[in-house]
Amino acid sequence: MAQNRRCTLSANVRSNVTNQICHQGTVPDYYIEARSAEDIQLGLRFAREHKIPVTIKNTGHDYKGRSTGPNTLAIWTKNMVPDLDINENFTPEGCDASVGPAVTYGAGQTTRDMYQKLDGTGYMAVGGSCTTVGVAGGWLAGGGHSILTPTFGLGVDNALQIRVVLPNGTYTTASRCQNQDLFFALRGGGGGTYGVVTEVTSKLHKDRQFTYAFLSMTVPDLRKINEIMVANAERWADDGWGGLYGVDDNNGSVFLAFNPTLSLEESKESLKGLTDYFESVQTDAAPFTAKIITLANHWEAQNQAELLSFLGSEAGISLTRSSRLVPRDNFQTPEGQKAIVDVLVAKGWASVLGTPTAFELPASDLPGGPGESALTAAWRNALWHFTYTSVWDQADPAAVEPKVLSTMFTQISKDMDPMRAITPGAGAYASEGDVYEPDHIRSFWGQKNYDRLLKIKRELDPDNLLSCFTCVGYEEDNERHRCYLPVRSETPDLTSTVVDDFMHNLVENIDC
Ligand SMILES: Cc1cc2nc3c(=O)[nH]c(=O)nc-3n(C[C@H](O)[C@H](O)[C@H](O)COP(=O)(O)OP(=O)(O)OC[C@H]3O[C@@H](n4cnc5c(N)ncnc54)[C@H](O)[C@@H]3O)c2cc1C
Repeated sequence: MAQNRRCTLSANVRSNVTNQICHQGTVPDYYIEARSAEDIQLGLRFAREHKIPVTIKNTGHDYKGRSTGPNTLAIWTKNMVPDLDINENFTPEGCDASVGPAVTYGAGQTTRDMYQKLDGTGYMAVGGSCTTVGVAGGWLAGGGHSILTPTFGLGVDNALQIRVVLPNGTYTTASRCQNQDLFFALRGGGGGTYGVVTEVTSKLHKDRQFTYAFLSMTVPDLRKINEIMVANAERWADDGWGGLYGVDDNNGSVFLAFNPTLSLEESKESLKGLTDYFESVQTDAAPFTAKIITLANHWEAQNQAELLSFLGSEAGISLTRSSRLVPRDNFQTPEGQKAIVDVLVAKGWASVLGTPTAFELPASDLPGGPGESALTAAWRNALWHFTYTSVWDQADPAAVEPKVLSTMFTQISKDMDPMRAITPGAGAYASEGDVYEPDHIRSFWGQKNYDRLLKIKRELDPDNLLSCFTCVGYEEDNERHRCYLPVRSETPDLTSTVVDDFMHNLVENIDC
């Protein structure tokens, strides 16, 4: 990005890589296609001996480029996909009692494949919504939300045991009963930082019927629709709706969510505030599309056409996000609701509902307990994981000019400032957040969790063999991060010569 040394593939134009000189960019020169813990141990030993920085890549879905890095040795885990292992009475290592049914999967396991394989077993598991995201890699390490999250919690709440190769080559197992520091760090402390995860065991939940709601229309009154969505946010979260809803710049409104606890009638009642409004304002030119139906099970839920179409629209395109975890408190007074609506009407938005505020964490997983995760506590009282998105076309030469990209990344970061301003002390989702999040330590982990994470990181990886951009222990000046753009804190004024100087230095001094 920083030097426009592209030969990037575009979903729309495959021919855009013909007849060009291609540079390596941030893509590592060497990959180890890991198939076993031993492969990873050998790779890490080689890297330690030759002092080569290491990156870990699973599916490559990371929005922030943290699964890649110039001149690194990459360990690629995508093909570590052993058969799922279902255990009706799983006892995590170090514990002395079964915690119930669980599924064990490999580092390269993807969500859709896992859901499909669980179909018919009578069980379902919490995983991402996107079909191709990995469940054992960055999704779990960053927190991991799902359509099941309001009812069953985040990925980090469902993990029971994690096996990992540490930077010194030790192959070890962490759970709530042993290696608790490591278990804390691997659940929310960020991917690519403490070791290479080879295998994860997660809770299984009884498969069940779902209600599915897909409601959409273009509405005449932007403020009114936002008021309705804000006024209902608390109820919808507590009712267990998982999915997303929002309004775009053209007043296009959508509610796409699943409910594993309410009956069809209860679901209709839960959404009545929204459906009544849509019905009252629909016209022939702007019809209301409504679908509220019962589905047999989780796999059917994952196969709804609108969900697949929404997720499919993200494939092969370039996009970036900013995020805010909006606390429940903000929704509980008329002034608080008005402040949110004011922010929303100023710009189109989309809100992912998958927040665990309605999910009651077991006492032992609360902050300070042996099973706590490293995520910011902001997750635990957030009603919304609220995001803005910017999309660009890699095949468009004008769009990928470094200055244009810098401006866009700065804008998406600044777009979130009004929401940040009305939610002081809240946080953001690192995995779907602003690449250049201001005060990222406080936003992603909180200072207390970060201090503990940094201590763990220094003990496990004193030489920073593993490192990624804004990850725990990240060194700003490290060569590995040289391809990131000069955004926000470095150059608030993008019209200044600072960007020119930065670009000039890059072109003169390094092959980015
Ligand atoms: C289209 C799309 C849809 C998404 N949907 C959701 C969603 O529904 N819910 C949600 O919570 N998030 C979602 N995300 C965000 C997703 O959780 C992150 O992008 C996540 O980092 C992807 O992890 P990965 O392992 O698949 O990708 P990668 O890019 O391969 O890895 C991401 C990070 O994890 C590290 N990592 C990967 N494997 C390992 C390992 N074995 N050991 C240690 N570190 C490892 C990498 O080094 C990197 O830092 C989505 C992202 C995309 C692009």
